[in-house]
Amino acid sequence: MAEEMELAAGNFIYDFIKEDIAPGGQYEGKEVHTRFPPEPNGYLHIGHAKAICVDFGMAERFNGKCNLRMDDTNPTKEDVEYVDAIKEDISWLGFKWDDRFYFASEYFDKMYGYAVELIKKGLAYVCELNAEQMRENRGDLTHPAVSPYRDRPIEESLDLFERMKNGEFEDGKMTLRAKIDLNSGNFNMRDPVIYRINRITHHRTGDQWCIYPMYDFAHPIEDAIEGITHSLCTLEFEDHRPLYDWVIANTSVPAVPRQIEFARLGINNTVMSKRKLRKLVEENYVSGWDDPRMPTLCGLRRRGYTPASIRNFCERIGVAKSNSVVEYSFLEHCLREDLNINAQRVMTVIRPIKLVITNYPEDKTETFEVENNPNKESDGTRTITFSRECYIEEEDFLEEKIKGYNRLYPGNEVRLKSAYIVKCTGCKKDENGKVTEVYAEYDPLTRGGDTPDGRKVRGTIHWVDANNYVDAEVRLYENLFTDPEPDTSDKNFLDYINPNSLTVLKNCKAERSLENAEVPANYQFMRLGYFCFDKDSTKGSLIFNRSVSLKDGFKRKK
Ligand code: ATP
Ligand code: MG
Repeated sequence: MAEEMELAAGNFIYDFIKEDIAPGGQYEGKEVHTRFPPEPNGYLHIGHAKAICVDFGMAERFNGKCNLRMDDTNPTKEDVEYVDAIKEDISWLGFKWDDRFYFASEYFDKMYGYAVELIKKGLAYVCELNAEQMRENRGDLTHPAVSPYRDRPIEESLDLFERMKNGEFEDGKMTLRAKIDLNSGNFNMRDPVIYRINRITHHRTGDQWCIYPMYDFAHPIEDAIEGITHSLCTLEFEDHRPLYDWVIANTSVPAVPRQIEFARLGINNTVMSKRKLRKLVEENYVSGWDDPRMPTLCGLRRRGYTPASIRNFCERIGVAKSNSVVEYSFLEHCLREDLNINAQRVMTVIRPIKLVITNYPEDKTETFEVENNPNKESDGTRTITFSRECYIEEEDFLEEKIKGYNRLYPGNEVRLKSAYIVKCTGCKKDENGKVTEVYAEYDPLTRGGDTPDGRKVRGTIHWVDANNYVDAEVRLYENLFTDPEPDTSDKNFLDYINPNSLTVLKNCKAERSLENAEVPANYQFMRLGYFCFDKDSTKGSLIFNRSVSLKDGFKRKK
């Protein structure tokens, strides 16, 4: 699967653009100019990351430019909070828009002007059908759409459109429609509405406007005003492209951009629409937009995802012309690849039980110099301590051996990673029979973990010095949904929330070096997975999120 995806990365958008700027092409000798146009009505998610990588990435590959434009033509639910978050997320991914940051609402005046131009050319008219009547009159494949207002004189439409702008009519009473083709097999061309009356306060223009342009009319104009050469968007706009081109062809906009569509990214085990993500936040299924279980970029960041891992993921899934669902495990695979090379190794015990080394001197402490990351020499070493008592994982001890179990049980030897080989001698239990302490003896000749006589020791376990550690809280995550496809049309995604998607473990014992962690910090907790330091941590209480486990579901399936 990974190879297939890598092949897909050699892509058709690149080829189109290359042709366009080559001699004889539509944009011969021009600088490639793209844009990313988010609607500021929610936080960006991993699907947007794909679009960002395509828009900014394509401009980068051609040494061109990419604008960041808030598509705020629809005044509902837009908020400054979202604008700031969107900028933060794109910067975090490592893309730059320099001073090319725009709001589509800056062009409302010009859009109005282009609408007037269309009316004057006899290419738009004010229609008084309401939404329901328009639906009834839209025709079907064998019948054309109908509007009794289609042949209204130009002067009359000009007058009514101005009065619509001046607030003389109530919401929904009239619309401005482009006069294109009531017979078109493409319903988007059956005299689409291009302006509607909508008395909603806009987050930037306030109450200055009570009419707002429709997306299909506004978007091509925005692109043309900014001198965009290639307007890259998702597949659902393919059927709207004739309208996009019509607007460009019939107004005096200053440029002719080309729209190219690519497939939306879908990932299993999650939902991706902003509306649904907002529901998860507002109804407290998660702690916020940046909850580490969310597919938002701020959620993934808090989960420990790195910009490199996300960009690599987007690069490798490539762009295609048909929608498909990518496995969540492939995203995790890309993160593991990055962290395997770049995350520091440390030892942390998340379900601790005490191990007492009964033949080790009471007051003695030894130090060991261990590598921070065997995959990255430049990462250096650090000192860890060892004494008579340490913490090990509860599950690394059994009172009785079971088949295939190579960890501690009475009589068995294991290696305490980087320190000594110890032989289990027994345990202590409380009145309920619960093991409260494990006992072992160490072999002083095995310092560093090697046996001088070459005897085989199969198990190696991690540990933390019980006389030198910091307490930590560890948060383990599972899929937010119990169904791999919670978002199909026959389901209500809220019915498939996984009640066990978060496990909080308190009283975990971490190596002292973690005391000075700062966001962002990624670690490999040996044998447990990759973890990141959480921003909710305070001096006395450190919190770590598990980003991903060590074993790779993606590879195994392959
Ligand atoms: P949502 O349905 O999640 O609300 P949207 O398309 O309404 O998404 P916008 O803010 O309009 O969100 O999206 C900005 C850009 O990101 C658009 O060009 C859109 O095509 C692209 N985009 C959104 N979702 C995806 C996705 N899942 N895969 C690829 N691109 C996406
Ligand atoms: Mg949208």
